[in-house]
Amino acid sequence: MHDLVIRDGTVVDGTGAPRRAADVAVDSETITMVGPGIGRGRREIDGRGMLVTPGFVDIHTHYDGQATWDPYLTPSSWHGVTTVIFGNCGVGFAPVRPGTAPYLINLMEGVEDIPGTVLAEGVSFDWESFPEYLDVLAAAPKVMDVGAQMPHGVLRFYVMGERGADHAEVPDAAEIARMGVLLEEALHAGALGLTTSRTTKHRARDGRLTPGLSASEPELFGLAAAMNRAGRGVFEVNSDFGPGDFEALRAAAAVANRPLSVLLLQVNNAPDLWRKTRAQIHAARAAGLSVNGQVGCRPIGIMMALETTSHPFSTHPAWTAMEALPPAARFQRLERDPQLRRVLIEELPDDEHTRTIGQAFGRTYVLDEAYDYEPHTSSSLAARAQAQHRSPWALALEALMANQGKGMLTHTFENYTEGSLEVVREMLVDEATIMGLGDGGAHVCTICDSSSPTFLLTHWARDRSRGPQLPLEFLVRKQTRDTAAAYGLHDRGIVAPGYRADLNVIDFERLRLCKPEVVYDLPAGGRRLTQRAQGYRHTFVAGTETLCDDEHTGALPGRLLR
Ligand SMILES: [Zn+2]
Repeated sequence: MHDLVIRDGTVVDGTGAPRRAADVAVDSETITMVGPGIGRGRREIDGRGMLVTPGFVDIHTHYDGQATWDPYLTPSSWHGVTTVIFGNCGVGFAPVRPGTAPYLINLMEGVEDIPGTVLAEGVSFDWESFPEYLDVLAAAPKVMDVGAQMPHGVLRFYVMGERGADHAEVPDAAEIARMGVLLEEALHAGALGLTTSRTTKHRARDGRLTPGLSASEPELFGLAAAMNRAGRGVFEVNSDFGPGDFEALRAAAAVANRPLSVLLLQVNNAPDLWRKTRAQIHAARAAGLSVNGQVGCRPIGIMMALETTSHPFSTHPAWTAMEALPPAARFQRLERDPQLRRVLIEELPDDEHTRTIGQAFGRTYVLDEAYDYEPHTSSSLAARAQAQHRSPWALALEALMANQGKGMLTHTFENYTEGSLEVVREMLVDEATIMGLGDGGAHVCTICDSSSPTFLLTHWARDRSRGPQLPLEFLVRKQTRDTAAAYGLHDRGIVAPGYRADLNVIDFERLRLCKPEVVYDLPAGGRRLTQRAQGYRHTFVAGTETLCDDEHTGALPGRLLR
């Protein structure tokens, strides 16, 4: 008698192999049999008409803080994710000296848009070293497995003090050696990698650029040598890929003799740069290095609603004058006062934010129930306004006020320069890429792409109408075996005997993303965007059911990966 048998499901096993009808047996935490006619289970699940997939592995998240206060790690746990890795992009919360947490909060707040008040109240900081932080994570109850990485910006600040916060400051030989020792210690204690940011998109809240932005070869090589000594860990980098950047990172990865994983996306001011980076990745792989590009599966979308961080009117004096009011009261005023609406639309402030928004209307769309994340540019706010001979600002205000003030707009600011997802398809089919831009736990009130695992399946294998779809088997592999393997997690990501029983049972016909919403459930009453899904009948983490019909069961079987 098995502990669990999922009977007659359609198994998409994570290897890319064609789907097949099979039973899946689980005993304790492990998949023990996959095939036809398996014997009885103490619990039986009717898998007819359901997909049975490995649990999803999301390697690019920022749950560094949330993992210490929210055992459910939403939104990811609503989307079939059973393993998350955080500490990406050079930001995080360890190591930390007593009294210096405010700088780390300032860095995380600026880079990843997690409010400082939320972090100050939510993160206990009752650790100093990275191994101590890992111990706190290990002890925290959690719905899924989590893994942490050593953030370069934080390590730099710990070793160099205030100087470390300034990317132009160069560490001396002793400081580089000290960083190396701490990194090696963290990797031995269970850190899954070293991460850094070399993008000017990343600024601390105080306006300073990210600490590792211009770290030069001696510093990078010193860290790489520590990875080499430890013989473990992935080197993750978010870079603008200016001249010489990839070469320096490639050289560091060679010194480390460890995998290099870089973010790969299309930016509007250099729409073909990602192709150059991809060619560099391919060349490095051909030379025998382990390098991959982390890609997304939809436009990186800035969400705008009356309650989000940024929206078309968020710097307008008539709006900021109402900022102290609760959201419902603001909406009532908007509704009752035509003069207020006229001022918002017609008397635009002459500021950077308003200019940027105005220029982005050609890439801004109404995000309603029907929105499919691959909109025609003819449905942009700018195009609609032109067709209707109206002001795009008027349309924007109407859209935000829809649905009792809960209406939303989305600005497709990356991965959508040409107004279609063909470019993303090109990224997805490339064998040198893995799934990776979800950013769960970050950008809490501007972006909500941690729902991407669901979108990957619904859009690319079922709903896409504007171009070719992709095989379901390939997509599942991309979010399971491939992401797991990228971090050396060879015990998961495949439905086969001997693998961890991290499993999803999905009603694929019914699978859908719900509309994003703003909720106020962060520490200190902080707000965030979240997005749920429908169609996850069951999710199992190491054989324990964590989600049933899209709701948490309350079980918290997750562990820290070391
Ligand atoms: Zn990131």
